[in-house]
This record gives sequence, structure tokens and C-alpha cells, in this order.
Amino acid sequence: MIYTVTLNPAIDRLIQTSGLLMKKKTNRVKTVEYDLGGKGLHVSHVLSKFGIENIALGFIGSENQQQMEKILQAKQVTHQLIVEKNASTRECIVLIDEESQGSTMVTDSGFQISRANHKKLISQLQRLLRKEDMLVLAGSLPPNYSLERLKEIIDVGKMAGSFIACDLSGDALRLAVEMQVDFIKPNQFELEELLTPGIDSIKNRLLALNKSIPYVAASMGKEGSYIVHAGEVYRVVPPKVKEVNDTGAGDVFVGSFLAQLAQKANLETAIAYATVCSASKVTKRNCTDFDLNQAEQMLPMIEIKKMEVNPDAIS
Ligand code: ATP
Ligand code: MG
Ligand code: MG
Repeated sequence: MIYTVTLNPAIDRLIQTSGLLMKKKTNRVKTVEYDLGGKGLHVSHVLSKFGIENIALGFIGSENQQQMEKILQAKQVTHQLIVEKNASTRECIVLIDEESQGSTMVTDSGFQISRANHKKLISQLQRLLRKEDMLVLAGSLPPNYSLERLKEIIDVGKMAGSFIACDLSGDALRLAVEMQVDFIKPNQFELEELLTPGIDSIKNRLLALNKSIPYVAASMGKEGSYIVHAGEVYRVVPPKVKEVNDTGAGDVFVGSFLAQLAQKANLETAIAYATVCSASKVTKRNCTDFDLNQAEQMLPMIEIKKMEVNPDAIS
């Protein structure tokens, strides 16, 4: 079973404005759409789209629970989310304009998780996780959710011997690296925060990370990605597509990659599906949609090149 954990869920409110979105001007709303928010939930949606059984864990607020439940159902997300009383699942406002010049996000910080509910999550994970399972931790931490709590979650996964995949940032990502999880996917900014500045090439620094983390995926938006596994570095160039909204591309990348690993596909297939599905995602208006048919047609358009590795150069 694959369990995704979303500690700080969200409802995405996608607002498309008429014409070009501008400051110091009244921007008229053209369309409004509500969608699933929260990175773990996004990954669950992708897994379900690939027909892979998964259960979304984490928290939701009681105040707008019904609205969230409706979205979860529409997105085929099976869940056992813990309800935090007197709290509202936050809204992430995603602004895009008719000209489709990329998206802008405005996000709430979310609600606090009570001690009792954190304990409930830990017990739930202890009860559910098995060696053959995958645990996916993705997204930001709720306000005042300590790294110690995150460490407890990762510890449960470690104790069970499950495969632990993390799409985290900042200190949380640093902790996941220290704890030697099985998969990380920093984007360009997350990678800059993670790697100590130095003269060594990005390739060598990713290889150094791969010594303790079996799968390192560094995503670079439209520039593609570097995937490092078993001491090999793959430079991946995505297809050229018309970008409408790139928010959520990383989540589709992670979900598609893990879906392939779960189906025992080989590494190159996992890389290929992650690349074409995330490329399909950026052509869509909302943050979760991608089209598997469109993605598969783009398979011949991508480039996956093994880079030369000099073992002596690895720091
Ligand atoms: P998220 O908003 O989900 O957190 P991210 O910032 O973590 O996204 P990115 O690095 O932006 O992730 O994108 C993930 C992957 O999606 C890239 O490695 C690439 O393969 C694909 N991708 C992103 N933008 C484009 C684009 N404009 N064209 C083609 N592929 C893209
Ligand atoms: Mg990005
Ligand atoms: Mg991301």
C-alpha cells in the first residue's frame, strides 16, 4: 500500500482573470474553480489516476470539511484524514490570467495541529505501515508543527522498514536527508537551500547525496531534471510545451515516478513517465490535471542521457 501524508492540506482556489493580470488595476475575474490542494493529496490523486491503490493520511479542518470531502471524492482520493476541530482547511489562491503568463500563488499558512491529533497520526502510522509499503511525505508543515514531530513520523516509517519518499523544503528537507530517506525531489530553490555553496558541480553534489539517499530527483522546471540512482546521474530534457500553469508540476512528477516504481517499472520508464506527465500538467489550467494520453504521445520527445561520472570527483 502507498500512504501519502499531508500535514498542511489546502483547497486550491484557481482564479482566472480577464486579460493580463496587473498591479494597481482592478483585475476582473473570468472563472473560479476549486481544486484539491496540499502536495500529499496531489500525489494521491496522481497515484489513483494510474490505478495504484493508496490512502491519504494527514489532517483536515472541521469547519469546511464538507467542501474538502467533495473535492477529495471528485479527485478519487481515498483517505483516512484526521479532523482537527474548530479549524478550517486553508485556501491557496492561484492566480492565472487569460494570456497564460504563468501562475501566482497566495497561500494561507494553515491551522495548528493539536498534540492529541499528532499522536493519533503516529498511532495510525504504527498500525498501518509494513515493510512492503511506501510512505510519501509531501508539502509544508503546519504552523508550530515542530521538526521533532516530523522526525517521529519518519521514525515510524524507518521502524516499519517502508520506502520513504519526501517532497519537503527547507529544514524539513534537511531533516529528511539527515534521516536518510529513500527518495527526495527538491526543485531548484529547495536544492539551493539544501546544498552548501561550493565550487563542486551540481552533478557531484547530487552524487554525494545519493550515497545515503537511493533516489535523488532534482527538478528544474522547464529545464527538466537530474535523477540520481545507484551512482548514476541522468540528465532529463522535457518536451517543449505551452506553459499555462506550472504549479503542481512537481507533485505530478513525484506521483508518476512513484507510481512506476510501485509497478516495478525500470528506472528509465519511471523517469520518462514523470517527465511527460508533469509536462502535460503544465499545459492545464488547474494544479492537478494531466492527461495520460497526451503524456504518452510526448514519450518520443524527451531526452534521458546518462552523464559521465568520475568516481574520484565525488566529494
Ligand atoms: P510544484 O509546484 O509541484 O512544487 P516544483 O517547483 O517542485 O513544482 P518543477 O521543477 O517546477 O517542480 O517541475 C517539476 C518537473 O515538471 C520538471 O522537472 C519538468 O520535468 C516538468 N516541468 C515543469 N515545468 C515545465 C515546462 N514548462 N515544460 C515542460 N516540463 C515542465
Ligand atoms: Mg517549480
Ligand atoms: Mg515542489
